[in-house]
Amino acid sequence: MVSRVIPVDPFDLVIFGATGDLARRKILPGLFRRFCSGQMPEEARITGAARSDMDDAGFREMVAEAIREFGGGRSCEDGTLDDFLTRIGYVTVDAKGDGGWGELKERLRSGFVRAFYFSVAPSLFGDIAERLRSFGLADDDSRVVVEKPFGKDLASARALNATLAQHFDETQIYRIDHYLGKETVQNLMAVRFGNMLFEPLWNSQYVDHIQITVAETVDVGGRGGYYDTSGAMRDMVQNHLMQLLCLIAMEPPARFEPDAVRDEKLKVIRALDPVDYHHIVRGQYAADESQPGYRAHVENPRSTTESFVAMKVHISNWRWANTPFYLRTGKKLKARTSEIAVVFKDAPHSIFGPEAGRHANVLVIRLQPNEGMTLGVTIKEPGPGGMRLLDVPLDMSFAEALGPDAEEVPDAYERLIMDVIRGNQTLFMRGDEVEAAWRWTDPIIEGWTARGEVPKPYEPGSSGPEDALMLMHRDGRKWREIKG
Ligand code: NAP
Repeated sequence: MVSRVIPVDPFDLVIFGATGDLARRKILPGLFRRFCSGQMPEEARITGAARSDMDDAGFREMVAEAIREFGGGRSCEDGTLDDFLTRIGYVTVDAKGDGGWGELKERLRSGFVRAFYFSVAPSLFGDIAERLRSFGLADDDSRVVVEKPFGKDLASARALNATLAQHFDETQIYRIDHYLGKETVQNLMAVRFGNMLFEPLWNSQYVDHIQITVAETVDVGGRGGYYDTSGAMRDMVQNHLMQLLCLIAMEPPARFEPDAVRDEKLKVIRALDPVDYHHIVRGQYAADESQPGYRAHVENPRSTTESFVAMKVHISNWRWANTPFYLRTGKKLKARTSEIAVVFKDAPHSIFGPEAGRHANVLVIRLQPNEGMTLGVTIKEPGPGGMRLLDVPLDMSFAEALGPDAEEVPDAYERLIMDVIRGNQTLFMRGDEVEAAWRWTDPIIEGWTARGEVPKPYEPGSSGPEDALMLMHRDGRKWREIKG
């Protein structure tokens, strides 16, 4: 059912930062899986580039190890890995120097799609972009892929956009948010705009509220240095949660085309009200008897960076006026889960009387684990003894629905890299979208700083600070339980 694999055009892909964590964990294993599934043509070539001194053979060994460690267990025929490795090469390049660029240029062939993946710190984007042009590696058809974080505020995002724009047109720039590559996220658009069933109800008249939760069980781990300068607002809300909010709230684009979709997402961000600070709860995981807290994971023992945020936001437009969207995300929570829950209003009148009970319909879109959707439907509790109502889930797990084919569903990185090769920007953030998201986020963060606000401590393994629960209780509503 799934695996209608359409090979992409032959390409040269250069990965800057090919020896780094992201390349080893996600990009290279993802490319291998696409190779296994037959999507990568014979003539595709992947060249790693970083400062480490290595030859092709050394890099191939590194790639093989990364695939063995992070390959994800998808079935591949014997010998496929060796075959894949023949398409891989490596050039030692310093983004800030001139060495290696000539050799890299010689490796690239004319007449093929050319893409450059910047899997390096954003401070190097400008250096690489400039050298790609000055050494003649990139032309007006080449594509560049840039990773998050895309800035840390509006000013820095603008500066990054301006730097990239000096060398590349917006149609050549692919800003990755891997959440957009998830199967369920795209399915969200299919469900909304491919069915008659939901869209007529998708508005403030029928929807009571929407909850978006992205919960992690991990702590900041080895990323403490970076995370402490960022926090949950910059690391998760400004990008991932904002993108999910856009897809759930946007108007139907006229066509499923990059700019049509991104125009509609941008309108959602622009319609967001500024958030009243009483409607935001910041948290920071505390220590318990068996494990250290956030401050022990970062260098600053008095850090006031948040590892959790919960907030109520409003979109001031015709469709969503007065419908609250509750967002929350955090680390060291009870379970690892990402979901969007659309909670519909109660039926206007219960013909069965108060004893029967009543249940609002809830459509839950699960991004992880176990991607799928559940629709809560009210039925009669079976058996004699009168009419009592029961809420039962109509559950669609993609893994079950697709059977063995589910294994073939590409993960987010695989899909997005293939989209780059195809030249399809639909699932990538446009520069103005990113800036609009920062324009909305900046005053929230500035407000915390101005008020000297300290995040509320929360127990590791909990659902976040008590105040986050109160945020909904005050409105007579309740968060869904965080469960994996
Ligand atoms: P990393 O492990 O620190 O790797 C950085 C890479 O950049 C290494 O390959 C390094 O290799 C190379 N590099 C550093 N300075 C260089 C220079 N002057 N010239 C050429 N290459 C240079 O970082 P990462 O975790 O892979 O992250 C890469 C980017 O992806 C960052 O922007 C990060 O924020 C983003 N990101 C990462 C993840 C993740 O899960 N890791 C998730 C989302 C986004 P050499 O030292 O050999 O030069």
